[in-house]
Amino acid sequence: MARTTSAPAERFAAKTTPGPIPTSPDTPNTPCRLWPETSLDRDGYGRFWLDGRYVPAHRYGYEQARGPIPAGLELDHLCTVRRCVADDHLEPVDHRTNVLRSTGPSAVNARRKRCVNGHDLTDPAVVHISYPPSHPNGMRKCRACARDRARRPREQQLAPVAQLPTVTQPERTAA
Ligand SMILES: [Zn+2]
Ligand SMILES: [Zn+2]
Repeated sequence: MARTTSAPAERFAAKTTPGPIPTSPDTPNTPCRLWPETSLDRDGYGRFWLDGRYVPAHRYGYEQARGPIPAGLELDHLCTVRRCVADDHLEPVDHRTNVLRSTGPSAVNARRKRCVNGHDLTDPAVVHISYPPSHPNGMRKCRACARDRARRPREQQLAPVAQLPTVTQPERTAA
């Protein structure tokens, strides 16, 4: 029987090209395997056509090489190259860890270890991750600050932050 399509694993391998060796200290000394720029989803991850639908290419590649990804875990790109599908550049982590390690626009905030009021943002009990429309990949909020705000009496919440400056110069009275 003639086969009209090649096996998925062969198609997958044929699509990748070797990339540079990442400089990040957390990544093994092996080159990235890059997915073509023409087959990326809008977040920049590779997509692979499999059984009538697109699947994330890096997840497919990882599972081919290492077996199933534990349920609920995401693959963090240690090399930070989203279109890389090298299994040794990928680490299964929970979503929260993935957000905290993120190198996206919220990364500066994600790397902060203290909130504006000095609470420890590396403590899981302190951090709350929410998903407003502006931050679809998640943003961090300080639970301790939210709790303090809720505890404060209403009058205090409405009180002005600073006293208005008092006028010390006498008004001109001379006509
Ligand atoms: Zn890589
Ligand atoms: Zn705080």
